Amino acid sequence: MRDFSKDLQWLSINTATVKMSKGKEFPLDQIIDACVRRNIRAISPWREQVKAVGIDRVAKLVRANNLALSGYCRGGMFTYSDDKGMLAAREDNRRAVDEAAQLGATCLVLVVGGLPGALNGKAAHNDIALSRQQVHDGIGELLDYARSMCIPLAIEPLHPMYAADRSCVNTMRHALDICDELDPNLSGSIGVAVDVYHVWWDPSLKQQIERAGPKRLHAFHVCDWLTPTRDLLNDRGMMGDGVINIPMIRGWMEAQGYNGFSEVEIFSSGNWWQCDAETTLDVCIERHHARV
Ligand code: ZN
Repeated sequence: MRDFSKDLQWLSINTATVKMSKGKEFPLDQIIDACVRRNIRAISPWREQVKAVGIDRVAKLVRANNLALSGYCRGGMFTYSDDKGMLAAREDNRRAVDEAAQLGATCLVLVVGGLPGALNGKAAHNDIALSRQQVHDGIGELLDYARSMCIPLAIEPLHPMYAADRSCVNTMRHALDICDELDPNLSGSIGVAVDVYHVWWDPSLKQQIERAGPKRLHAFHVCDWLTPTRDLLNDRGMMGDGVINIPMIRGWMEAQGYNGFSEVEIFSSGNWWQCDAETTLDVCIERHHARV
């Protein structure tokens, strides 16, 4: 296993982790500056953060500072209740691929969507099988375009608590089934983003990581599962503060040849987003050395 204890070579910061500083928005250009000052080599930005600063400016900053992008967050939300919704999802995902290409991201992370409308409080139906079919077809359609732009897709299975509103793909097994159906030749153009927060509980996690192998393991996201968890979305913990055995999971990934970045992704409205982002970054570094 790679030694993370001494340097920052494989640390990436998902920029949602420091999107707020002391409860106020912390813009992406300042996040990049704070990362560069610490010799952090990689980030994974969110589309709305990029948009707020302007993609041309972000692309310039990324290149000027020789930053890598361990991923781009995010595409997906493939489910719909009418043709208009289908076309909008298709269009938006192609734009996400274009942006990922402009920024030089290693992959586009996909959060695939749940029941259409559920995220806004009113699901259009309760047919999760239909949603799953739309997700399968939507990814298949996007894959051709993503291949033409040389942007690998990374399906991120989400914890089952998000099945209704954010993702009806909730296990590594399901995500890999989709990969195998759409890409039987293991081209590397589609794989999974393994986020410990979503998959740590899965009794078949090790087996599914082995099944994925190096061609399908596109990203590794780390944070921790707090007990108790006070908010289903925005109460993720700093590595070492919760119950996930992160080094064990990283070991399984690396045994399969995964040698990419380890991306710290913490949504924490009650804790880390209330802290000074500079402090949060320092703690991310320290914990990445010791607890990942
Ligand atoms: Zn993630």
